[in-house]
Amino acid sequence: TSRPLLAGNWKMNGTRASLSEIAALRDAVAAGRTRGADVLICPPFTLVMAAADLCAGTGLMIGGQDCDAHPAGASTGDVSAEMLRDAGAGAVIVGHSERRAHRGDTDAVVRAKAEAAGRAGLMAILCVGETRAEHDRGETLRVIGRQIDDSVPPSASAAGLALAYEPVWAIGTGVVPSADDIATVHAFMRRRLRSLLGAEGGGVRLLYGGSVKPDNAAEVLAVEHVDGVLVGGASLKEAEFLAIAEARR
Ligand code: 13P
Repeated sequence: TSRPLLAGNWKMNGTRASLSEIAALRDAVAAGRTRGADVLICPPFTLVMAAADLCAGTGLMIGGQDCDAHPAGASTGDVSAEMLRDAGAGAVIVGHSERRAHRGDTDAVVRAKAEAAGRAGLMAILCVGETRAEHDRGETLRVIGRQIDDSVPPSASAAGLALAYEPVWAIGTGVVPSADDIATVHAFMRRRLRSLLGAEGGGVRLLYGGSVKPDNAAEVLAVEHVDGVLVGGASLKEAEFLAIAEARR
């Protein structure tokens, strides 16, 4: 089995002062406190280059939270995958539900962004997940199947992609699906990736995200087919994120 991936998504949080949290996490990773897991923090664009400079040559990877699908051009306010790579990023989140819901990121757009990440040499952390209403209607696997089929690039490789299951109703709510429900969705994602990507689909890491905290991380990380976590609020403070990493059994 592959190395676990512990990823933090800072969303629209963090200023220069927050770089001290990244430096502290870098030192904890270097001291072996994350026990061989791959560790990634995705700060806002304004901090990517400074954070990547702090972490260059260390075990803490820095990533972006989104990218444009094009390498460069007349697209005011956007940042390309190539620019992120140039700034020192090693990964980028694409298809987060906050962008799918509020920024017009359709499955086709998400696929183009994931392809851009691959082109630029970034690992894509591609997010899928159903809304509360879809969940209550029993449509979870149908929705996730469609999101995978329509947003995962057919050219994706195991090393270049991680797929994160983030149920929209679990994000920022403190509500987490049962271990059985996470296992069901992750087993489904694994089958779907294998049929889409063949052998490469067997090696893509599958993350869970949505209200992961130090007190539930051990249980989540022990679920079959869970190869890591994508943490929002609890990734902002080094001590809390480290507690999640250290909860891994
Ligand atoms: P929370 O961990 O704050 O629920 O956020 C999850 C998330 O959206 C990570 O991308």
